[in-house]
Amino acid sequence: MRQTLVLNASFEPLSTVSLRRAVVLVMQDKAVIEQEHAGLRIRAANVEMAVPRIIRLCRYVRVPFRQRAPWSRRGVLVRDRHRCAYCGRRATTVDHVLPRSRGGADSWLNTVAACAADNHRKADRTPQEAGMQLLTQPFEPTPADALLLALALGGRDRGREQAPEWLAVPAA
Ligand SMILES: [Zn+2]
Repeated sequence: MRQTLVLNASFEPLSTVSLRRAVVLVMQDKAVIEQEHAGLRIRAANVEMAVPRIIRLCRYVRVPFRQRAPWSRRGVLVRDRHRCAYCGRRATTVDHVLPRSRGGADSWLNTVAACAADNHRKADRTPQEAGMQLLTQPFEPTPADALLLALALGGRDRGREQAPEWLAVPAA
């Protein structure tokens, strides 16, 4: 697996991401190539470009490097690509697997994206009690995910963005 180093706009190294994600960031004009693999070219979506070894973000992002990504509702939706953990359809709400009313935490491992119907149906019950199954297990974003989450969430001032494409790109 080829990894690309990501620098902040300030040139400070942040993390590594998969080559595919690096290419997507460059194609979305979120990053520029600082150093390429000599002699290697990549073709993606009708564009031919150098294979990035190091990319630099165009905008400075505050990332808790090698720390845990701060939990947020929007972050959960981005992490789960706006897909309901119970039925796979479009999710607009965040469900607490162990309900908050019963001590469930606002944490990555206790929350999943859910469609409004399933969230309503599940109500104050655990998935087991409600007879509902999680299609995917909630997970804590890695440092690389944390960086990409910060990038995605940083676009808030630019209006409503679609689910960021980089999350739809499978890891290379
Ligand atoms: Zn659903």
